[in-house]
Amino acid sequence: MISQRAQRIKPSPTLAMDSKAKGMKAQGVDIVNFGVGEPDFDTPDHIKEAAIKAIKDGFTKYTPVGGTDELKDAIIEKLKTDNSLEYSREEIIVSCGAKHTLYNIAQALFNQGDEVLIPAPYWVSYPDQALLNDASPVIVKTLESDNFLLKPEELAKKITKSTKALVLNSPSNPTGLAYDRKKMEALAEVILKHDLYIISDEIYEKLVYDGTEHLSIASLDSRLKEKTIVVNGLSKSHAMTGWRIGYAAGPKDIIKAMTNIQSQSTSNPTSISQKAAVAALKGPQDFIETMRTEFDKRRKFLVNELNLIDGISCLMPNGAFYAFPNVSKLYGKKAGERLINSSLDMAMYLLEEANVALVHGEAFGDDNHIRISYATSMESISKALDRIKEAVKRLS
Ligand SMILES: *Cc1c(COP(=O)(O)O)cnc(C)c1O
Repeated sequence: MISQRAQRIKPSPTLAMDSKAKGMKAQGVDIVNFGVGEPDFDTPDHIKEAAIKAIKDGFTKYTPVGGTDELKDAIIEKLKTDNSLEYSREEIIVSCGAKHTLYNIAQALFNQGDEVLIPAPYWVSYPDQALLNDASPVIVKTLESDNFLLKPEELAKKITKSTKALVLNSPSNPTGLAYDRKKMEALAEVILKHDLYIISDEIYEKLVYDGTEHLSIASLDSRLKEKTIVVNGLSKSHAMTGWRIGYAAGPKDIIKAMTNIQSQSTSNPTSISQKAAVAALKGPQDFIETMRTEFDKRRKFLVNELNLIDGISCLMPNGAFYAFPNVSKLYGKKAGERLINSSLDMAMYLLEEANVALVHGEAFGDDNHIRISYATSMESISKALDRIKEAVKRLS
């Protein structure tokens, strides 16, 4: 019999959709994939070269569990330059992707009965990682009319004696929206009053638009820095999802606990990827701007076109590479015998009848929306939009 722990969680809810889309594709159906959660850009050449050099130089053995000093120093430099945050090596850990970093945090921080506040819509792994570590995820709904940003008074209402931590993800996956300084400061006030830990997932920090400034909540106040674990990685900023490098910066005792846990589970992240990560952080950064500019173009085109479709409305996101349109006005409508009454119905309809793969909002804790990734070519976006328009027109 499998453990109760394993029974507590569900498989990644995006998986069923994804395997269905893949199955259709294998049968020769021309599917446009709006579901992907990774940049469609290739890892820059100078990063690949650093990895090839690492292999040729024989840098292919165990490294220190929490990452090489060389990489930690590159991360420290990055946090100072980009985020005005000062850390020492003992306050940094490198892991096998930011998802692994987040898992280590959950292992190091949570006890049975601890409540973890997770604003919805949320990234799919936060609640299940809490559950796997005996904590209780407490979902805090945000409103579309507030740009899906958590309001301080809503946060305050959910805090109990058992609240241990708040998860913040700005810019957000799935909404694509980010906090500005004023809104972040208002949240920080409540957090300080209640002495909560903050798990700040900043993986999309480099992908911001319309002059948005990425802000790490740890940089607002030294007391906040003591309670914040900053999570970041190279998957999204440097198109390195397959390399599996993520990292955390935070209080020494937590980083030490995470390192102990990592020493008993995965040991160090891949030595070769660590060399590549050093090249990514210390080398030329112009690639990021090229990618960001292209995402920006797609973002405006996609969202403007979505808003022209009757029954669909979409906020203009200012970060990441996702749009999160509201499709709930179309609920209750039918295509032939097929009734659309949920985000999953809509996602299935668009997949089967329009051959567009995307993710139902329910997977992120919001059944009125669907998530569209624009990490795909302009041509594909255009084609998918035409198909969605047609499919929505057939609903009555
Ligand atoms: C992609 C993603 C991650 C994890 O990225 P890794 O590839 O594990 O580094 C973490 N948080 C969010 C919100 C993401 O979208």
